[in-house]
Amino acid sequence: MTSAVLPTYARTDFAFERGEGVRLWTDTGEEYLDFGAGIAVNSLGHSHPRLVEALKAQAEKLWHTSNLYRIPGQEELAKKLTDATFADLVFFGNSGAEAMECCIKTARKYHSEKGNPERYQIITYDGAFHGRTLATIAAGGQEKHLAGFGPVVEGFDQVPFADEEATKQAITEETAGILIEPVQGEGGLQPFPAEFLKFLRRICDEHGLLLIFDEVQCGMGRTGHLFAHQLAGVTPDIMGVAKAIGGGFPLGACLATADAACGMVAGSHGSTYGGNPLACAVGNEVVDIMLEDGFLETVRERARTLNQKLSGLVASHPDVFESVRGEGLMLGIKCKAPAGDVVNAAYKHKLLTLTAGDNVLRIVPPLVISDEDIQLGIDKLDAAATDVQSALGG
Ligand SMILES: *Cc1c(COP(=O)(O)O)cnc(C)c1O
Repeated sequence: MTSAVLPTYARTDFAFERGEGVRLWTDTGEEYLDFGAGIAVNSLGHSHPRLVEALKAQAEKLWHTSNLYRIPGQEELAKKLTDATFADLVFFGNSGAEAMECCIKTARKYHSEKGNPERYQIITYDGAFHGRTLATIAAGGQEKHLAGFGPVVEGFDQVPFADEEATKQAITEETAGILIEPVQGEGGLQPFPAEFLKFLRRICDEHGLLLIFDEVQCGMGRTGHLFAHQLAGVTPDIMGVAKAIGGGFPLGACLATADAACGMVAGSHGSTYGGNPLACAVGNEVVDIMLEDGFLETVRERARTLNQKLSGLVASHPDVFESVRGEGLMLGIKCKAPAGDVVNAAYKHKLLTLTAGDNVLRIVPPLVISDEDIQLGIDKLDAAATDVQSALGG
């Protein structure tokens, strides 16, 4: 099949036309169960009636003004997010990478504002992923994302995963902050121990560093908590959010304390579309739904069920699978067989899953999944694993 789309993705040859809840239908009418949720984006499933309604209602009134004017939907969403978190202030963008760019700029500007412009280095961790802009690929530090794109943006020091000693040694007079995903997504569904996040909070306080959490993937209910750091009991100074917050509509946000954001004054940063009325109408509805009584509790219950059933699958396919990891409904199976083979086999059984780094099969269904659909997905994954096993000659 030829296409004029720049071939930066290895795509399947099927396309979806319509979705509802945890299900998608191709343009030829085939039904798939969605355990990938558009890479942890469709947090409330496809075509959630309340999101459709919020978007339609806004679409009939006003699509876009500019950030030169007050945008009431932004103010409302910022209030909800700050009421629910450590943060005092929110900047809205359109994506995860933009959210993280704002986090990085906010941290650098803070130190400049405090009279230390030389403090712009940020410590990051092996396996990190923060986006695909020039600064965020530098922050992620992955050779496969950096290769061929010229000089790497300066200002990032990468240290081994959850290594306290290496973190301490990486701190210099020029360090501005520490940037970390409380649960690594692309890197392989790897949660940092709560103790390590607590250590980071202590060491940041000791050295006057800003602690920056990238909750683009692990935030917004994914772990069964509004934000993953709330489970660990550690608060950052700055946090990036995207993916699930728009439920499928492009929306990202950078949250910060008033002190951390002290340098971000009029003219210091901007985005034409960031937080436009359409995006905020949807974002407000997503946050309202997630904060309703019982929503996150149900996510935690479903997560326990899914985790338990995945462990059962690992036990019954020891040649294909190794172990379950992750948190909440952000789960992974470390594979023995190539994780990509499992994803391809699952397509044949009409189940969408994803891979992640470290040969992990990533499972991030919509947070509204039912127990019945968890079981259906497990049965499909069981069949896929059996196919992979027989292809291996087992
Ligand atoms: C997806 C992701 C990003 C980048 O988000 P985009 O919307 O693709 O720019 C950044 N950080 C993490 C942790 C992510 O999972």
